[in-house]
Amino acid sequence: MLHTPSLYIALAVLMATVFVLFYFVTYRSSRAPYAGWWCASLGLQALARVFYLWDGTPQRVWANPVAITLDALGMGCIWAASRSLRGRRTPWWWLAVAPLLVGILAVMDDPATTPWPAGAAQLASIWILLALASVDLWFLARSVPPTRTSDQRVYRQAVWGLFAACAGAALFYVGRWTAFIAVGPERPPFTTVFGENLSTLMLVVLMTAVAFNMSTVCDEQQKRTLRDLAAHDGLTGLLNRKGFLHLAEDALLRHRGGGQLILADLDHFKTINDTHGHAAGDRAIVTFAGVCQSLVRSTDLVGRYGGEEFILLLPGASPERADDVVETISLAMARRARTGSTVLPTVSFGIAPAEMPLAEAIEHADQALYVAKETGRDRAIHYARTA
Ligand code: GH3
Ligand code: MG
Ligand code: MG
Repeated sequence: MLHTPSLYIALAVLMATVFVLFYFVTYRSSRAPYAGWWCASLGLQALARVFYLWDGTPQRVWANPVAITLDALGMGCIWAASRSLRGRRTPWWWLAVAPLLVGILAVMDDPATTPWPAGAAQLASIWILLALASVDLWFLARSVPPTRTSDQRVYRQAVWGLFAACAGAALFYVGRWTAFIAVGPERPPFTTVFGENLSTLMLVVLMTAVAFNMSTVCDEQQKRTLRDLAAHDGLTGLLNRKGFLHLAEDALLRHRGGGQLILADLDHFKTINDTHGHAAGDRAIVTFAGVCQSLVRSTDLVGRYGGEEFILLLPGASPERADDVVETISLAMARRARTGSTVLPTVSFGIAPAEMPLAEAIEHADQALYVAKETGRDRAIHYARTA
């Protein structure tokens, strides 16, 4: 019905076109590892289709092993792309195992008697790699929180789309492999349901679905990276004022307004800059940020409010816990000042109940901080006690 070599050529052209588009439009702008792996997969599989054209000719002695090896490597790259979407690296030798194995088996097979050298191993490698990719995509899709913004919804749908494409293709190849083992490559149902034509059409659907969803995922991850950069301070890595306020309002809403807000200001910081240089000042800021971050709970928020001023939100905390946190931070700074090589200042704190509106709570903490400075620095003052 359908002419298999023509389908191979059509698939190779489709893959090469998507490869070029994906490389120039998505990979070059994002340099994201998953986009790179996906490009590699497209390129390798397009190339494999070219070598498959020699199947059935005397050239297949070398062309089939090359095609089969490239195919397995291409499928491995889909797995690596799925892993890198989850922020995981894939050692190169993991990817080398399947192609080497099927390549060696293909060379050892006798093309004159076996119409499809190393067929069973090749089919097994494809479904195993696609199944591994599906598992990673499943965990990734499950980790996306339930929809809050339209961006998140689109991202979630795209990841589920990737999962569906890979899992569907993996199932198809399990069927193909089972039929190959059960009846061999010459008889139905291998030649009918799982034949070359249907498999090639299956790959067309897989590639189109993956390409579409992959570019949506890349777009969304790029937006996420930019949003992250915009919400964080470049020197300390803490949330900046805008990022802090955004998350703090959310956290307060979740805790129905309860908790403590702390403003911290490094004492006589200008003297450190003037005496030891700006770089020493920077080191003191980074050290204080690290100390704060390491001593609060994962549900607490720490931000750089500006210059040498920091802001902390302890949702649901009592004034006593705020006192404990502030004392621990001050002690840690004093210990580091004694033992380390960085010049470190003392710190003043203003503490206020964390209420909505947040701007009012910050104003109260600022008034308390002012009193802490006025009364000698290196201390914590509660707003309620000063009002
Ligand atoms: P006080 O005890 O009253 O808070 O005095 P202070 O010297 O700490 O406060 P002041 O507001 O007079 O000076 C703050 C200084 O912090 C001025 C500014 O140059 C410096 N500064 C702000 N941001 C940075 C930064 O990122 N790196 C460095 N090294 N210095 C900074
Ligand atoms: Mg200061
Ligand atoms: Mg200041």
